[in-house]
Amino acid sequence: MSVIPYGRQDIDEADIEAVIDVLRSDFLTQGSAVPAFEKAVADYCGVEFGLAVNSATSALHIACLALGAGPGDFVWTSPITFVASANCALYCGAKIDFVDIDPSTYNMSVEALAKKLAVAEKQRHLPKIVIPVHMCGQSCDMAAIKKLADQYGFKIIEDASHAIGGKYKDKPVGNCHYGDITVFSFHPVKIITTGEGGMALTNDPQLAEKMGDLRSHGVTRDPQRLARKPDGPWYYEQLSLGFNYRMTDIQAALGLNQMQRVDGFIARRLELATRYDQLLAELSLTTPWRHKDNISAFHLYIIRLKLDEIDRTHKDVFEALRENEIGVNLHYMPVYLQPYYAQLGFKPGHCPKAERYYGEAISIPLFPLLTNEQQDQVVGALKGALKC
Ligand SMILES: *Cc1c(COP(=O)(O)O)cnc(C)c1O
Repeated sequence: MSVIPYGRQDIDEADIEAVIDVLRSDFLTQGSAVPAFEKAVADYCGVEFGLAVNSATSALHIACLALGAGPGDFVWTSPITFVASANCALYCGAKIDFVDIDPSTYNMSVEALAKKLAVAEKQRHLPKIVIPVHMCGQSCDMAAIKKLADQYGFKIIEDASHAIGGKYKDKPVGNCHYGDITVFSFHPVKIITTGEGGMALTNDPQLAEKMGDLRSHGVTRDPQRLARKPDGPWYYEQLSLGFNYRMTDIQAALGLNQMQRVDGFIARRLELATRYDQLLAELSLTTPWRHKDNISAFHLYIIRLKLDEIDRTHKDVFEALRENEIGVNLHYMPVYLQPYYAQLGFKPGHCPKAERYYGEAISIPLFPLLTNEQQDQVVGALKGALKC
């Protein structure tokens, strides 16, 4: 018996062939696969520009920079996310703060956001950027957040690392209808993979240009944008302080082929999630919330234990599952409880709903290649683990 992980990639022969084709070609990087992948993702999402980079972390960093985050600015995000959603603000010298979650969706609470904005307005430190995270692939209430953005004048970066293939109000997540920039991750546990990789999407040509510069040293060869007259045909100029955040063509070719399979991945994830919903309905736990107008990409299937109904602790249940070779995980400890953030001054109690969630949540295995038999094994182990 081997461990059933909480998530893993699905690589087929066509994915492998696509990568090999690039390896045999002239360009391993800065070739044609990257723009082809960018176009495939942008078209799929119904957005103007897609900028492929080497991780979602890099995408978040250049997104914050393009929107002007810097010293003196505040960026707000959800505490229930991967640390990268918050770190990006600190890379820019901005300050970070956290808005508590909605206890049923696990996304940033719009009510908590509205309250915090009203207070921040009085204290004159409104956020420059808010980064809602589409937890598990379930979109945040973007229409409501956009309304607040218009009222208070902040920019929006959607951290959709979990959510490519998901829908909000019938439209693809990533279309940037309600936000300035959307970010995807292509880490192997996410919906599609490029090994490591990410993308920043936007409809704004200026933001696209800024992010394009920042991902590649701030350098341009575009004759229209040069500050000086070219010295000769070799000439290029560095116009801003960029990085090397480029995605390789090897990665992009994998991503391009994975994009042809994305709808199948989502369909299988949804099928497994619905099957879990049914198999777990009678147990002392809460299954994931579903919005009637949205389709979650179901990156994660998170259960919340009803601890008052069982005689075991959260840790007992978690350990019993791990002992039974179920590779459960916990997404996530509230970011501000991390030692690094505690040292910045954040204290326990900052977001009580997020902390309560952390004491009850468990991510159980969900990925397209999970079989019904393996899923039954997970359910069996969970039933055992909940009994005293
Ligand atoms: C995975 C993840 C990231 C970081 O993605 P990388 O591509 O690994 O840099 C950022 N935010 C969230 C919510 C994630 O799940």
